[in-house]
Amino acid sequence: MNILHKDVIIIGGGPSGLAAAIALYEQGIKDIMLIERERHLGGILRQCIHDGFGLTLFSENISGPEYAGRLIDRLHTLGVPYVTDTAVLSVSNDKTVQTVSRSGLFTYRAKAVILAMGCRERTAGAIAIPGERPAGVYTAGVAQHYMNLQNIMVGKEVVILGSGDIGMIMARRLTLEGARVQAVLEIMPYPGGLSRNVLQCLEDYDIPLLLSHTVTDIHGGSRLTGVTVSKVDENYNVIEGSERRMDCDTLILSVGLIPENELSTEAGVTLDQVTGGAVVDEHGQTSVPGIFAAGNVLHVHDLADYASLEARRVAAAVYRFIHEGALSKGSLKIIAGKNVRYTVPHAISGQSDVTLSLRVKIPLRDCQLEVRQQGTIIFQKKLNKALPAEMIEVALAQRLFVSTSALEVRVC
Ligand SMILES: Cc1cc2nc3c(=O)[nH]c(=O)nc-3n(C[C@H](O)[C@H](O)[C@H](O)COP(=O)(O)OP(=O)(O)OC[C@H]3O[C@@H](n4cnc5c(N)ncnc54)[C@H](O)[C@@H]3O)c2cc1C
Repeated sequence: MNILHKDVIIIGGGPSGLAAAIALYEQGIKDIMLIERERHLGGILRQCIHDGFGLTLFSENISGPEYAGRLIDRLHTLGVPYVTDTAVLSVSNDKTVQTVSRSGLFTYRAKAVILAMGCRERTAGAIAIPGERPAGVYTAGVAQHYMNLQNIMVGKEVVILGSGDIGMIMARRLTLEGARVQAVLEIMPYPGGLSRNVLQCLEDYDIPLLLSHTVTDIHGGSRLTGVTVSKVDENYNVIEGSERRMDCDTLILSVGLIPENELSTEAGVTLDQVTGGAVVDEHGQTSVPGIFAAGNVLHVHDLADYASLEARRVAAAVYRFIHEGALSKGSLKIIAGKNVRYTVPHAISGQSDVTLSLRVKIPLRDCQLEVRQQGTIIFQKKLNKALPAEMIEVALAQRLFVSTSALEVRVC
């Protein structure tokens, strides 16, 4: 077997993989290979033709393709090696990576691997909606792919289940293309996506957002004819008598994203049950030494800018890993305390500055974020709001750590 040896293999050519590859190359690690299974680089951003990208990275409000285009231009200018139309089939814990493309099967062995495979959408099957399975039921990303990349209109009378960002963006997109979006339904008592999308995608277009509502039946033979919509109580149980039918030819599902970690699991990487991504230290290093993760494969990001910036930080750690052979161990655990759903990373060494990403469990107003060590508050910050849909980033300086015990993060 002919093995191709590389310093670093990056799996996935979305904003995370691109940012990691560029950063590595700029630092002088040039023996790398970026591998993308689609025909084009850019990841999910290729179909996100709306604006709202780049405010942090480029200080400009640009569209998804423009954002991806800037990273791809930089990649080409530097001459970073990459392949497209090539799927990674397996990754093993000795950092052997197998790929398949029209040219055949290839085996790479790397000193380090960066996982940047993004995530996929939850489907109707995954949330087990009862009823028929007619044509006309799409996930929001699939509908977006049809409309924005293939110029195919998916329907005229639309109901959207889930108020995640993609669902709200698709409500606006469908309206602009002449469809009637009857409502966006959300099972939670608060919106699932960013506040700016509630305003710009729903309120500006008079699209009703029905909180504490869900779809309890799907009707139709070969094509969808309608859905039953029901109200739910605080325990998400359907309130009897609240059912009503909405006639529609299209149901769009925006009910969550799942990090694509099948390859990671096969490599022996430990996953966090809450994020669905790898358990990592401050370097973005997983439980398998030399295998790193960044972007949506690690935890679902609300903004592409944060995914790219995280990938840059991981690239800086990979640079040190390649030169030094190992990185400082994450012996200080980070505990998700009151109202915190998760934190990434999961452990840190306490020997350098770190950036923590976290999400809260419930919407909070006029609250305080605290980081405690052995009961002492070592960092605090006032927040006007903390919403489950919006990722919070906290930069912690190394000098703040007072001992070698675990850190607890809480928002209250
Ligand atoms: C529909 C939608 C709308 C969004 N709107 C906004 C917005 O308005 N503003 C904003 O800032 N953010 C937005 N986001 C979020 C943003 O797009 C993500 O945060 C960002 O794309 C994550 O980048 P990534 O590189 O981690 O993943 P992705 O962009 O998903 O890229 C992952 C790449 O890995 C490849 N891959 C996966 N498995 C393999 C394999 N086995 N072999 C080879 N390649 C593989 C995939 O093909 C893909 O190209 C949106 C996201 C979605 C889904």
